[in-house]
Amino acid sequence: MVRVYLHDITKIFGKNVVALDRVELEVKSGEFMVVMGPSGHGKTTLLRIVAGLEEPTDGEVWIGDILVASPRRGIFIPPKDRNIGMVFQNWALYPHMKVFDNIAFPLKLKGIPKGEVEKKVRGIAEVLGITETLDRYPRQLSGGQQQRVAIARALVKEPHVLLMDEPFSNLDTRIRVMARAFVKDIQRKLGITTILVTHDPADALTLADRIAVLRRGAIQQIGPPNEVYDRPTNVFVANFIGEVNLVDGVIIGKGNEAYFDGGGIKIQLPPNSNAINAQNVILGIRPEDVLLSRETLSDNDLLYAGKGIVEISEFAGGKFNVMVKLQSTEVKAVSSVSFGIGEIVNVYFNARKIKVFDKKTENLLY
Ligand code: ATP
Repeated sequence: MVRVYLHDITKIFGKNVVALDRVELEVKSGEFMVVMGPSGHGKTTLLRIVAGLEEPTDGEVWIGDILVASPRRGIFIPPKDRNIGMVFQNWALYPHMKVFDNIAFPLKLKGIPKGEVEKKVRGIAEVLGITETLDRYPRQLSGGQQQRVAIARALVKEPHVLLMDEPFSNLDTRIRVMARAFVKDIQRKLGITTILVTHDPADALTLADRIAVLRRGAIQQIGPPNEVYDRPTNVFVANFIGEVNLVDGVIIGKGNEAYFDGGGIKIQLPPNSNAINAQNVILGIRPEDVLLSRETLSDNDLLYAGKGIVEISEFAGGKFNVMVKLQSTEVKAVSSVSFGIGEIVNVYFNARKIKVFDKKTENLLY
């Protein structure tokens, strides 16, 4: 097993398209790293640079102890010598070849003897549960099976690193859930260092040991899913991974006696020595951390935000997505009970889950 280390990687296309901006990313040996970000923000470029399909403009790429790319030192090891398996968005299976030959292709390219090819292809097909498809053509397979063939082809060379570019985007929602579980399981079983890129937060939250969030080619945050979700470094990350209510306002008071005041909402903040009087801020609270109640509740972990009027209440399978209007602010909440449109409810925020961002930098303050 090997680690992958991108050191100070910059990629500029043409004169001034900065696809990657001084990226520092270490993927530990055996780790499942999910790189995410909106479309056009550098994810594929990062993957292609690791694979050797693209040369960085500056910086270093390490795979294990080998420096595989460094423009300053004039080093560039081509893809075929990097021992990497790659799964592309469209899976890129050869339509005119049977599944067996699709999987065998990388081995034949390497000139591996027939008997050994047979053994390896059958071995990896077994691991991926596609043995019965080996004699079929890709078009005779379901989307989920085609994806497994693409993964088998990437893994058959026993690469040190597995790279996956949006591998679930061609699958419908239900199969996607199964395919994710499958990929996670295989990765764990084989313990292969993996980098998967996606724009879908659900992929990242369910698969990753750690998530790296890219914005305009620059890393915003790297951390385990729960950390990125609960402690996003800035408004962009908070918004991109999951939903969040954001309210502009100002801090009144300081330290342990500080209030947030904005959008008609005034709440006492949990004791916090970093709160500064008159600082312009953005308050962030996720819908599931908003509690709606007909009764008055008293709990140290609940901050009373005021009375709201229910505008929308949608059943979403076992829960309700509710929109309440609190003075001039619309707040989304997830509720286990249903409310009537127009009903007046008490609105509480979970004190432990409140996030306060600086208005100017949009970075998390506390
Ligand atoms: P998507 O999710 O849509 O695939 P992405 O996050 O993977 O997007 P990249 O494909 O890495 O983004 O592109 C990052 C930036 O680099 C974009 O502005 C893109 O237009 C630009 N870019 C990528 N490849 C090239 C290229 N070969 N020549 C010029 N510009 C490129």
